[in-house]
Amino acid sequence: MRLSLTARCNLACPYCCPDSHDPPELLTLTERVQLVGAAADLGFGRLRLTGGEPLLHRGLEELVSALQPLRGPQASSGSPGLSEIALTTNGVLLSAQRAHDLRAAGLDRITVSLDGTDGASVARMAGLAGGVSAGEAVLDKVLASLDHACDAGFDPANGALKLNAVIARGRNEHQLLPLAELARQRGIELRLIEFMDVGNRNGWQPDLVLPAAEMVRRIGARWPLVPLGRQAHGTASRWRYRDGAGHLAVVASISAPFCGDCDRLRITADGVAYTCLFASSGLDLKPWLRRAPSAAGETLGGAMRSLWSQRHDRYSEERAEEQSSGTVTTQRSHAEMAYLGG
Ligand code: SAM
Repeated sequence: MRLSLTARCNLACPYCCPDSHDPPELLTLTERVQLVGAAADLGFGRLRLTGGEPLLHRGLEELVSALQPLRGPQASSGSPGLSEIALTTNGVLLSAQRAHDLRAAGLDRITVSLDGTDGASVARMAGLAGGVSAGEAVLDKVLASLDHACDAGFDPANGALKLNAVIARGRNEHQLLPLAELARQRGIELRLIEFMDVGNRNGWQPDLVLPAAEMVRRIGARWPLVPLGRQAHGTASRWRYRDGAGHLAVVASISAPFCGDCDRLRITADGVAYTCLFASSGLDLKPWLRRAPSAAGETLGGAMRSLWSQRHDRYSEERAEEQSSGTVTTQRSHAEMAYLGG
């Protein structure tokens, strides 16, 4: 389950196009804990806190701490409870203090997003108005955030710290080897993500997608790779560097969609549940969260259960089928990535 804490971001990546404001009626801390608790009772075990930029949310550490009782077997439902709480961030605001506080609050894993290793590439991919020097300043902060995360105990060797990079053809594909080198040097698993057609305003075109197989081919030509496959319900296919310098992963949601075993539920910062990253609408859970408890009527857990059991989203597979048959009709409106929580 991915829980977005804000739709706002401190970067303006043109492939994501985050909102400058939050939706009205953000969930409260109590409502977020209640929601994750209901999801845990239904069997969701892994939680990822995201956004927008989740470090913009001042109550992040308090939330992580308040979620700790949901770990382990839940007496009320007999479910196994939460097994993992992770965070996806651009790292810009991950100071040494915040990394330490998040670890102390009980955060298990951090994924930091970075799409280039030089000022020009970072500025371009992050939509920074200030050009190369602004890109260098962001890059310095993100690299420092990796150090802070390591120092706080998020150990890349056991997967507690990973790096995400979106690769778009003609925009930052020349950063593939530099990003792989940076991750190898730091012992961090790099996850390369195909540019996806999430949202309506990022100008996505099929020819902007550099297929994951091509990314792997280019990196493998420099540092030979051994395939490890994709775990059931996982988004990433993983590879091992033959020289022992760690792992590489690719998320091929355009070129090799995995809708068939996707088990992700996304909840927006204002409590709307989406069963697909490419959905155009979701189910607002606030009425159940804010309704006075009564004996009659469906519970929050019941509403989530029926949403889940009725889901039939397979947009990425449909897009791939239409592209290969030349009958593209899936120009549907999508919710925006930063609102949904990537
Ligand atoms: N702000 C945080 C961050 O940068 O990691 C969390 C939210 S962001 C939406 C989560 C991830 O989605 C990031 O790694 C980002 O690069 C990725 N992302 C955003 N838009 C995307 C797109 N159109 N295609 C592929 N990945 C995308």
